[in-house]
Amino acid sequence: MSNIPKIVILGAGYGGILTAQRLQKELNYNEADVTLVNKHDYHYFTTHLHMPAAGTDKMENARVSISKLIDEFKIDFVKATVQQIRLQDKKVLLEDGSALSFDYLIIAMGGEPETFGIPGMAEHAMNIRSINSVRFIRQHIEFQFARYKRDQSRTECLTFVVGGAGFTGIEFVAELADRIPKLCKEYDVDPELVKIYNIEAAPSALPGFDPELVEYAMDVLKKKGVTFKIGTAIKECTPDGVIVGENEFIKAGTVVWTGGIRGNHMIEEAGFETMRGRVKVDEYLRAPGHDNIYIIGDNSLMFNPEGRPYPPTAQIAMQQGVTCAHNIVASIRNQQPKKFVFSNKGTVASLGKGEAIGVVGNRKFKGFIAAQLKKAVDIRYLFIIGGIPLVLKKGKFF
Ligand SMILES: Cc1cc2nc3c(=O)[nH]c(=O)nc-3n(C[C@H](O)[C@H](O)[C@H](O)COP(=O)(O)OP(=O)(O)OC[C@H]3O[C@@H](n4cnc5c(N)ncnc54)[C@H](O)[C@@H]3O)c2cc1C
Repeated sequence: MSNIPKIVILGAGYGGILTAQRLQKELNYNEADVTLVNKHDYHYFTTHLHMPAAGTDKMENARVSISKLIDEFKIDFVKATVQQIRLQDKKVLLEDGSALSFDYLIIAMGGEPETFGIPGMAEHAMNIRSINSVRFIRQHIEFQFARYKRDQSRTECLTFVVGGAGFTGIEFVAELADRIPKLCKEYDVDPELVKIYNIEAAPSALPGFDPELVEYAMDVLKKKGVTFKIGTAIKECTPDGVIVGENEFIKAGTVVWTGGIRGNHMIEEAGFETMRGRVKVDEYLRAPGHDNIYIIGDNSLMFNPEGRPYPPTAQIAMQQGVTCAHNIVASIRNQQPKKFVFSNKGTVASLGKGEAIGVVGNRKFKGFIAAQLKKAVDIRYLFIIGGIPLVLKKGKFF
């Protein structure tokens, strides 16, 4: 048996793929065994999923085969679903009953929807989380039109509720608003009959974002037919719609929940101390009390210099992946680890075709220029993980 350290990466999303690629680059031959475990044999661009979910883009444009992103001579890829992390035994159990042992573990399995205990939300609402969840939403939306055409007393089929007006909610509702006119045409439905609600409990849409840009975004979306209910909590989600505010019932054939995410349930089950399922990692991205376990991306909790938690984003997950790989290599070589310092490259939210808002440094962008910026961000990501071939293959769709 080989004595070289075993590094196991759980999840090939933004954090996991960057970690794998950096380890592949930095490790010398035979310095460590690296295994990457992921549910699917593809990596998906979560930041692009709102488009195929609404049906404004093809599913294929939101994913790429993992074999195209890693060198399988250097990294063992295992397509499997992780079922349990056993800290004591330094083992990860997989769904097929097999186990992987590790010396170093990177947990990068992404988050799960946070429903804040709203009754019925977990059972009846759909979520934009993966290619499979997005396929379901897309089919469901089309089915509502077909269903209405078969029985036109069922007007609720044409009511769409999006819970949460954060980035995901706003980006999805914008795509949905772009898609509805096409579906109306295809199914011979009067567009006046379609209702799109975006419901948010906080006093503003896009909480924490620049107020002038938020106002701009809401104006753009209202013109596309979105009705906002801001400062309105969803009290319950039923199979037929949602109960909001003072017991108002919105009958709807479609409810998509984007109101929050929490860490993966397996982390809590493994015995880590968590806040909303996320682990407060140290400045080197290690789990408290475990110098060989790194937690990155949506499962990690880190605070900015003002003491506020960084929101879970692809941007931070990617940067953490790079630092995490560096620190594991440093640990193997008995060198000093590097502290993680987040470098904010800006935030851009798409508002559908040709429209977006964004802040980069102190500059604000809106409209067409912001939409181009969004494309540039997406293309930059393709370049980072797959170089020019991936940009040429997928970039034209962004
Ligand atoms: C619609 C939408 C739009 C977004 N837009 C932006 C944006 O514009 N900018 C931005 O910075 N962020 C955005 N985000 C947030 C961003 O996508 C996440 O913060 C980011 O994906 C987190 O990266 P991660 O590596 O932690 O996990 P993920 O990228 O979610 O990857 C987790 C991986 O783990 C795998 N996995 C999960 N469970 C298991 C298991 N049990 N076994 C094996 N594998 C498993 C998954 O299949 C996946 O491949 C958006 C999110 C959504 C949903």
